[in-house]
Amino acid sequence: MISMQKVSKVYPNGVVAMDDLDLEIRDGEFLYVVGPSGAGKSTFMKMIYREEKPTEGQLLIDGLDVGKLKDRHVPKLRRQLGVIFQDFKLLPSLTVYENVAFALEVVGADTTSIRKQVMDVLNLVGLKNKARNYPDELSGGEQQRVSIARAIVNKPKLIIADEPTGNLDPETAWGIMEVFEEIHRRGATIVMATHNRDIVDKIRHRVIAIENGRVVRDEEKGAYGYDV
Ligand code: ADP
Ligand code: ADP
Repeated sequence: MISMQKVSKVYPNGVVAMDDLDLEIRDGEFLYVVGPSGAGKSTFMKMIYREEKPTEGQLLIDGLDVGKLKDRHVPKLRRQLGVIFQDFKLLPSLTVYENVAFALEVVGADTTSIRKQVMDVLNLVGLKNKARNYPDELSGGEQQRVSIARAIVNKPKLIIADEPTGNLDPETAWGIMEVFEEIHRRGATIVMATHNRDIVDKIRHRVIAIENGRVVRDEEKGAYGYDV
């Protein structure tokens, strides 16, 4: 699904955030990305959803050379993947329903199918009864569920989540992980950067550790492996 060959990222200020990375992520895999702050995890994720371009090397998603993708084709790529952030990034002036429907409206789906898809996905994340609420009326965990609903409503095969539980208390974080596990069971490929040791150690998946822009560890059903 994702293939990286000799991928490097040097920011304009000279920081080498990714250094000659070779990595394959298979269809249907669940991959945790761990490592200290500043290691390059966000840069790794941003290159996948084409927020940043590699300065060298090749990054393929389903054969598509993302690094060479013209700006005008980026929206099409983004519709094929779901991105979830630590800080939710919901639109505050829109209801829960509207935040999720937005992703379908931009692709021109008809109202009846939008309504069904939105309610189905809100049901999946356990928020059907919050459809009319605004984001600031929800708890952090509920807001993250909305952002997951928004990310998956197009049924993308690939989900990118950058510290999705970073702003949540432990109990809420486990609830969010159950949603990711369900999406994974339904066949999605998930790439998740996280600092949550308890989750990585308990819900075992492949783990890559990034330090100074390099993958220093890559384990099937790996552990978190850091003390903090
Ligand atoms: P992590 O997500 O692991 O904390 P990042 O990918 O955010 O790491 O950052 C990796 C390195 O790149 C850090 O040294 C960071 O300061 C630097 N960096 C990140 N974004 C930029 C940017 N837009 N411009 C310059 N340097 C950046
Ligand atoms: P149920 O299947 O339980 O009857 P509905 O599909 O009728 O649920 O909707 C549940 C919630 O979603 C209700 O609060 C409803 O107002 C809201 N909702 C449904 N469709 C829309 C829409 N097009 N715009 C805004 N809110 C909607």
